[in-house]
Amino acid sequence: MFRPVSSKVNFPQFEEEILSFWRSKKVFERSVDARQGGQRFVLYEGPPTANGSPGIHHVLSRVFKDIIPRYKAMKGFYAPRIAGWDTHGLPVELEVEKELGFSSKAQIEDFGIAKFNARCRESVFSYLKEWNALTERIAFWIDLEHPYITMDNNYIESVWWAIKRMWDKNLIYQGYKVTPHCPRCGTSLSSHEVALGYKDDTEDPSVYIKFKVSGKSVGDFALDKPAYLLAWTTTPWTLPGNTALAIAPEAEYVIVEVENEYLILASARQEASGLGEAPVMAKVKGSDLQGVFYEPLFNPHDFNVERKRFDNLASLNLQAADKDLTYPVIGGDFVSMEDGTGIVHIAPAYGEIDYEAGGKNNLDFVHTVDLQGNIIGTYPFSGKFVKDADKDILDDLKSRNLLLRSETIRHTYPFCWRCDTPLLYYAKQTWYIRTTAIKDKLIARNDEINWYPEHIKYGRFGDWLQNNVDWAFSRERYWGTPLPVWHCDACNSYECVGSIEELKKKPNLSGFKEPLDLHRPFVDGLTFDCSKCGATMKRLPEVIDCWFDSGAMPIAQHHYPFDNDALLEDGRFPADYISEAVDQTRGWFYSLHAISTLLFNRICFSNVICLGHVLDAKGEKMSKARGNVVEPGAIINKYGADALRWYFFTGTAPGNVRRFSEEAVAEVTRRFFLTLWNVYSFFVTYANIDKFAPGSKKVSLEPSELDRWIISELNQLIVDVDGGLEAYNPTEAGRKIEGFVDDLSNWYVRRSRRRFWKSESDADKLAAYTTLYECLVTLSKLLAPFTPFLAEELYQNLVCSVFPDAPESVHLADFPVADKSKIDEQLMADAQLAMKVCSLGRAARSEAGIKVRQPLDHAVVSVAGTKDEERLKKLKPQILEELNVKELKFDALSEVVKLEKPAYVVGAEGNYAVAMPTEISPELKAEGMAREIVRRLQAMRRSAGFDIADHIITYYQGGDYIREIMADKTLAEYIKQETLSQELIDGVPEEGVFTERQKISGYDILLGVKRLG
Ligand SMILES: [Zn+2]
Ligand SMILES: [Zn+2]
Repeated sequence: MFRPVSSKVNFPQFEEEILSFWRSKKVFERSVDARQGGQRFVLYEGPPTANGSPGIHHVLSRVFKDIIPRYKAMKGFYAPRIAGWDTHGLPVELEVEKELGFSSKAQIEDFGIAKFNARCRESVFSYLKEWNALTERIAFWIDLEHPYITMDNNYIESVWWAIKRMWDKNLIYQGYKVTPHCPRCGTSLSSHEVALGYKDDTEDPSVYIKFKVSGKSVGDFALDKPAYLLAWTTTPWTLPGNTALAIAPEAEYVIVEVENEYLILASARQEASGLGEAPVMAKVKGSDLQGVFYEPLFNPHDFNVERKRFDNLASLNLQAADKDLTYPVIGGDFVSMEDGTGIVHIAPAYGEIDYEAGGKNNLDFVHTVDLQGNIIGTYPFSGKFVKDADKDILDDLKSRNLLLRSETIRHTYPFCWRCDTPLLYYAKQTWYIRTTAIKDKLIARNDEINWYPEHIKYGRFGDWLQNNVDWAFSRERYWGTPLPVWHCDACNSYECVGSIEELKKKPNLSGFKEPLDLHRPFVDGLTFDCSKCGATMKRLPEVIDCWFDSGAMPIAQHHYPFDNDALLEDGRFPADYISEAVDQTRGWFYSLHAISTLLFNRICFSNVICLGHVLDAKGEKMSKARGNVVEPGAIINKYGADALRWYFFTGTAPGNVRRFSEEAVAEVTRRFFLTLWNVYSFFVTYANIDKFAPGSKKVSLEPSELDRWIISELNQLIVDVDGGLEAYNPTEAGRKIEGFVDDLSNWYVRRSRRRFWKSESDADKLAAYTTLYECLVTLSKLLAPFTPFLAEELYQNLVCSVFPDAPESVHLADFPVADKSKIDEQLMADAQLAMKVCSLGRAARSEAGIKVRQPLDHAVVSVAGTKDEERLKKLKPQILEELNVKELKFDALSEVVKLEKPAYVVGAEGNYAVAMPTEISPELKAEGMAREIVRRLQAMRRSAGFDIADHIITYYQGGDYIREIMADKTLAEYIKQETLSQELIDGVPEEGVFTERQKISGYDILLGVKRLG
């Protein structure tokens, strides 16, 4: 006997029960250990930061991380899975700053780095319990008890080893460059971090600025009136740092007259700059403008700001004060005619191109902003944050007649990915990894990776590699892996340290204390003697980009090479599989790929599923500010984790953007879970009545065509699901299961009902049970990687309760293997044809408003050709029954679609059409009535709580028409048989009989059902 299964099911509740079963039986651990000796399958967990609550998008990536190793384990692979936590970096520091109410680095230093970092260490795991609980609840099987943690000394030591190795290969350097800088966090960001924070539709000023020409002529044109070079910018705060203007030497420029002044700009931009009406006084070539000088908008010496000049790209010399300072017009190939005026404002301190132009042309270099983004010096707007100073700067220029026009523009601008502050491009010293030196290798190794979806490979990721820039990887921050570089002030030499052993061996090492903590400020206190000059070396204060930490996880999680020195060869590297959201092409996917290419010139992962983002139902980004964040817990408590998993796997292809809505999860529950559950509950109910014992009776079965068909479909399904998962396509695989369950429920079970209901237990009935049992058991195994709970429920009841020697959990079972000899293409095609015709017929019926139970005289069918017609004739009995018609007629498509209302209603699709007549004869009407009475009686049997096998007596009371029907011998016999009624009694039911008053097609009828003995 199987445990009875109610048709009403509470998914979240049984999931909780299964969780405790897994826990107590250590099923996850055993599912791994049982496959020891099998081929390894390695998942790398992209470590989340556990200092915030997990969101719905975390559930998405975690279930995708789960499904593939789960499947591989069932296929016999040895697949230990190690959890990991990202514990360093800005995300953590920011959270602590918020707690402490800090808004600047100065406050952190006043508070004390030791105390601040201690708070960071604590904060890292503030949501650990919640993370672990959710991870377990959604059945993401991963070893949470022995995770790797990026702040552990061992982890840091491996990261130091990696940095030292790069250092030795001359891949690390310090550069004075313009880098994206977050003024709030006070640190540079890498290009991949910048890529995470672009915002469209950012409002900025769009201003046209006049730079006064200091000479008397331009080319041959004498300047008899004040003349100005016109430039355009969206960052007025960079104007005090302007030290040159750039033009395109080959382009044509015009000198136009406006209000008794000359303005100079490119011909191609005259119209777009709003000066189309202004009379052109002269045309000059761009090269004629080269060598023209102009007056600075703000002479830095008037505002107590240093002016330096480029010697070359790397060195700047301080310049003496100059009251009559002028700046040059230079030529540049970067000057575009797509926007602006064709004259580009150059501020070498605030842009990559500007900086380069400065170095090449020996321009002046003026820094007017500090690292917090505030204007320095004694300008009227000094002390203000740059973006707030924009307006004052423009007012100042306007008062001096240097502003032609001021508008606003909406464009894309980068913001800090952590704190949302607009980034500033800012020239400063930063440590770089020379990734551009291995660009070809980065690109070549990418050829060896399988990307899902495939277009990411040479699209988003490939482009990113093609446009590779050096990795700015130092951070002027506190809580992170310290940059292991020491500096000697005396002889200006650097030493990189690659291990604790190496550090201990340094001459005259001071400040070394056990227990060791490889964090600031403890490492800051470590000094030793310079190997070149003997003076004291001090560590540089920088920490490193936390993306370097997570990208080093393949080695650092195993403390390589200090432990596990065979790691690179023993199957644990590279990973077989990783999965994260698509933004990680520039984050974790990149840092993994870059580091393993830098260190070993090897790939880091063979297969990657790249997930689309999760948006809300309207397609908006989820954010706390918008209030549209979906809490995963609420969804899981209502629908269960399996429903959410299934929705994520099958709702849309992994790479697509998802619009998440609760309604969609509810729909999945209705469409898939309840359909399957009803089949399961149906099977268990009848199997128990008939005491069906799978595998016990070795009688020869008589599989009907229907049985052979569903078994054929089942084996084809195994092939498809296996193939789908093997190809990292859970969506395709899941949708195949959905299709099968639909066929199983709406064709196999529906068409087999009578075989289960009939009272005699013959070979046909046994064949039906055996077939349905095989389908459900196989489904439980196919579903195990997708919906581990539902799979377990089916398996426990259908397999474990009957076969004590079977594996104790579905997750310890093997993945099904298809018996291809049972796949019958012709049979499957026939059934598809029959289902197609029936669904068209039903559609026509419903359009005509004729109930399915109302028999009709005939149906006219048109199919694709004579072959189809022959096949359909073979299937005639099924189709007659399904369409509930007495005869099947065939005709050409052109004829069938001509059949019109009111006589016919036609359902058509492609080459297929089915026409249903709308006329109902009295005989057919009576038959339909009888069927309707049967349906009502069956519903009443259920409401009265009768068992499916109970025999009853039926009472009825109604008008002449009802009596006529009940008196018809054939109809009465039919009603009795269908409802297990021993008698149909015309009269008032006795006391205590379950009765209901019904209205059927306008006729009143009182029905009563009474259980016998
Ligand atoms: Zn920031
Ligand atoms: Zn030295």
